[in-house]
Amino acid sequence: MEDKISEIRPYRAINRRKSKQIFVGNVAIGGDAPIAVQTMTNTKTVDVQNTIRQINECHEVGAELIRISVPDQDSSEALAKIIPHSPIPVIADIHFHYRRAIESAMAGAKCLRINPGNIGSDDKVREVIKSAKDYGCSIRIGVNAGSLENDILQKYKTPTPEALVESAQRHIKILEDNDFFNFKISVKASDVFLAVASYKALAESCDYPLHIGITESGSLSAGTVKSAIGLGNLLWQGIGDTIRVSLSADPREEVKVAFQILKSLGLRHRGVNLISCPSCARQGFDVIKTVEEVEKRIEHIKKPLTVSILGCVVNGLGEAQHTQIGITGGGNNRHNVYINGKPNHKVTSDDLVERIVSLIEELDRNSN
Ligand code: SF4
Repeated sequence: MEDKISEIRPYRAINRRKSKQIFVGNVAIGGDAPIAVQTMTNTKTVDVQNTIRQINECHEVGAELIRISVPDQDSSEALAKIIPHSPIPVIADIHFHYRRAIESAMAGAKCLRINPGNIGSDDKVREVIKSAKDYGCSIRIGVNAGSLENDILQKYKTPTPEALVESAQRHIKILEDNDFFNFKISVKASDVFLAVASYKALAESCDYPLHIGITESGSLSAGTVKSAIGLGNLLWQGIGDTIRVSLSADPREEVKVAFQILKSLGLRHRGVNLISCPSCARQGFDVIKTVEEVEKRIEHIKKPLTVSILGCVVNGLGEAQHTQIGITGGGNNRHNVYINGKPNHKVTSDDLVERIVSLIEELDRNSN
């Protein structure tokens, strides 16, 4: 539905940067592949059962890739037990010790995230490349403004876009010199201006796929705003092949926010696009409570559907005409239900949440 709208409304079109395509397990990254959504577990990796539970929870809300920290050998041993139970490819997050990367490749990780500033000498990076080749892993060069190599930091005095890109290019060269091209890159910063400028410079300097993120962006609400500004800016310019929103919150929230950003830009269409009004004195029912309850109950819906819930006809009628299910509040506790833009029946406040959820589930079952 959204795609057809973008055809007739060209101002909605985003021209994605042309990047090479790589695979993380069975998930394509770059080229014309959908922008993949990933998150990261925050359980102790050695807690195998809880980590598997969290991976499944994240997968349920749409995560397509999952990253897991491997801080020590006990964690790489746990990774070998976790990976067979993961429904999505696992990315091993490596800092400080290159041996963890090698162990993770052996354990079945499909991508090794290495931080050039923390991994050490070129020789160690070469050993990581060898194990990635041996075990069919991709690599992410994960440059971070907070952990640049010392010599680069001395040269630029402070993290700058040029510094982040130089760090990335140094490691691109090591990988290329070792005939390894199966990699993506990130140049993250918690500062939105620095992150956006760094990604823009990197995007102009190479055609490798880019993992984009605003690192350590904060709490659920503050971090969502910051990520939407930073990632939204990049995505709008066509930059970004896989996305992680970093929040001090449950990783499921990261996945939901990532999809909301992508849906807002028409780049992904997973789940319900819920249009709702802020409510005011004209509302015929409690809009905020209704939307909160509906939202919680439709998290399992994967198909792209559009639903509008508005408190009255002022804007409700216009929105309902462009959604598959539309609700507008009416007088005397009789609210209007629209199906595909046409008035269909009326419902009372008491039945509203149940009716909306059952209509959405029915549409989900019946649509292709
Ligand atoms: S749609 Fe109606 S209830 Fe909702 S904010 Fe607008 S005027 Fe108020």
